[in-house]
Amino acid sequence: MVKRKNRCSFCGRSEDEVALLLTGMNGFICDDCVRQAEQIISENTAGKAHKKPGTGLDMHDIPKPRDIKAFLDQYVIGQDSAKRYLSVAVYNHYKRLSQPEDDDVEIEKSNIIMVGATGTGKTLMARTIAKLLNVPFTIVDATIFTEAGYVGEDVESILTRLLQVADYDLPATERGIVFIDEIDKIARKQDNPSITRDVSGEGVQQGLLKLLEGSIVNVPPKGGRKHPDQDYIHVDTRNILFICGGAFDGIERKIAQRLNTHVVGYDSIQNQQRIDTKDLMKYIVPQDLKSFGLIPEIIGRLPVLTHLNPLDREALRRILTEPKNSLVRQQIKLFAMDGIKLTFEEGALDYIVDKAVEYKLGARGLRSIMETIMTEAQYNAPSEQAKELTITRQYAEEQIERNEKMKPSAVF
Ligand code: ADP
Repeated sequence: MVKRKNRCSFCGRSEDEVALLLTGMNGFICDDCVRQAEQIISENTAGKAHKKPGTGLDMHDIPKPRDIKAFLDQYVIGQDSAKRYLSVAVYNHYKRLSQPEDDDVEIEKSNIIMVGATGTGKTLMARTIAKLLNVPFTIVDATIFTEAGYVGEDVESILTRLLQVADYDLPATERGIVFIDEIDKIARKQDNPSITRDVSGEGVQQGLLKLLEGSIVNVPPKGGRKHPDQDYIHVDTRNILFICGGAFDGIERKIAQRLNTHVVGYDSIQNQQRIDTKDLMKYIVPQDLKSFGLIPEIIGRLPVLTHLNPLDREALRRILTEPKNSLVRQQIKLFAMDGIKLTFEEGALDYIVDKAVEYKLGARGLRSIMETIMTEAQYNAPSEQAKELTITRQYAEEQIERNEKMKPSAVF
């Protein structure tokens, strides 16, 4: 009797005609058909991956608050309290996304507002979160917006950017994260509602409101101003997480005023002793944002309020070396690519911190100081024989002094 050859149950080719034939319970499949099936699956599920029916994500995919914080710790130094707030808010946000649509208890959106001086890590924190969650992420600067009809951009252009980042994948866009920087710059100019138009302040806040609260927004696919005969993409912002950041310069005064008015009375002296006047920011409450000029409706839509601490010397020193992609590690990597082993003496690192403190630019200053010190070596080293390079304090000082001489008024 002739033995029948096994054949692929999909294309019918025999085992001699294919590279590999896999055996199943009641049939066979060849390697070509597996590849084709894989392609069909990926084409049909693009943008729907990890999704449950409805709007939800699978809870198993979402890291827990402690995991989120641990991830942030790898990139962001200090700012413990802000990290905790952010981790919980993001976790709750994704819990919300994984809720079935017919759930009685609807979890409300937890947009976040972070208050802290420039260069303390607000953007870095939002960026790191987006990296972890692998969702579309965009940063926009609130100062470019003006009220509809005036020179500037409409607030809807925020969503155009998110769409662009997501390659116009609408379901992905609708679960993205938007970081709105410099939110303090659209504060109302006075505490009282103005009688004249305030097109770049209160007007923009009103515009932002409908994005933050969650609605279907008509978004011009290419950005710019909206005009009547344009096609719009309808973006549902219900599940987009908004993180706002701002320096709120001078808000400490508002906090102090509030604390003072609260402590008059029987136990005022005791209370005043307990207030840490050097770090008033930690007492911030939503009311202070209102005194600063954010409208109550916006504050209500940013229920998670947290603050970032100014970075002291010790924090700056750690930022130089500790984060996963710290400036020192980046330089070492750059030189390693030329086969050169780069090391920094402790003194050189201390000097970089000294200069950053002197220039009062916080962590932002570190990068430009590092670049100034390293440029000469980066220029010469690849063409030279030496396979090791040590940056001493003296070398760092020489490079900075040379630069300061060349550009006497240069502020990094
Ligand atoms: P902000 O948004 O608060 O103005 P950024 O997050 O843009 O400040 O910080 C500017 C740069 O300074 C970042 O790219 C990062 O390299 C560094 N930096 C700031 N704060 C921290 C921090 N807490 N930990 C590590 N790096 C920081």
